[in-house]
Amino acid sequence: VKKQGGRYARQARPVERTAVLGAGIMGGGIAYQSASKGTPILMKDIKEEAIELGLKEARKLFAKQVERGKFSVEQMAERLTNIRPTLSYGDFAGVDLVVEAVVENPKVKGAVLAEAEDAVGEETVLASNTSTISITRLAEHLKRPENFCGMHFFNPVHRMPLVEVIRGERTGDAAVAATVAYARQMGKTPIVVNDCPGFLVNRVLFPYFGGFSQLVAQGADFRRIDKVMERFGWPMGPAYLLDVVGMDTAVHAGEVMAEGFPERMADMGSAGGKSAIQLMVDHQRLGQKNAKGFYAYE
Ligand code: NAD
Repeated sequence: VKKQGGRYARQARPVERTAVLGAGIMGGGIAYQSASKGTPILMKDIKEEAIELGLKEARKLFAKQVERGKFSVEQMAERLTNIRPTLSYGDFAGVDLVVEAVVENPKVKGAVLAEAEDAVGEETVLASNTSTISITRLAEHLKRPENFCGMHFFNPVHRMPLVEVIRGERTGDAAVAATVAYARQMGKTPIVVNDCPGFLVNRVLFPYFGGFSQLVAQGADFRRIDKVMERFGWPMGPAYLLDVVGMDTAVHAGEVMAEGFPERMADMGSAGGKSAIQLMVDHQRLGQKNAKGFYAYE
């Protein structure tokens, strides 16, 4: 981990126009956060329904801020216009920084980043919100790897202060500087970390999910585990946290972690050869995103 003092701040180019690829849990949250802090953002997805959901979520978050008296209705309407939904790369040429937040799959991310690179300007920074995939590996899909780094937000984006800015082997200082600056503009606390599967937080978190999955496979009650971890002092237990993260995303990320750290991730708690988290996906219990995970949601 490298502490970033003024070094990156001094090198930052202004980040005035931005874009996010993917309007899911994370893309929608990133769009809201950028818009609420006054930085315009294009929100691109491949599905109209996803864009609608992303916008609905942003509207809901803005409405809460109005309720709390942080924004007037007029301010909310004005900030909302900072989010420009789109299904095409039409307006990407003038964008300073693009955050990629599509599904956690190295092939899909590689292809999406390569097509985005063709649509943006020579100096545009591309940043991936991947939870686990090595930035150096994703950079292999790009012609300008020096303009690429990780920008890993946490869920829910509007509440979690930390952003990991990940420096791949070929990432240049200017890309790190712009990404650190954008994170600060969004009111977040960036830390610059070196590249490895899972970076810092998920390198710690995934073996914990593995331990949880193992206990469940051995017959432990997930509700009790959650209660115990809350008593221990964590704001929520692992089952609830997995519901927030999304079970499918956790499985994809777990696969990347298992490839990177086979010994540590060897036993995710197999039940009939599958982890408890994979079994949840098989039963379409994806978590809060489809209103049923370990717990049921309205
Ligand atoms: P999600 O399933 O909610 O959303 C993914 C979105 O990407 C969908 O709307 C999908 O339509 C869209 N998409 C797929 N292909 C696309 C393409 N070619 N172009 C544009 N959009 C495309 O997933 P999510 O939870 O928002 O996760 C997105 C990324 O953020 C993943 O890399 C994930 O690992 C990472 N992340 C997730 C969390 C979390 O807690 N869920 C936390 C931090 C980081």
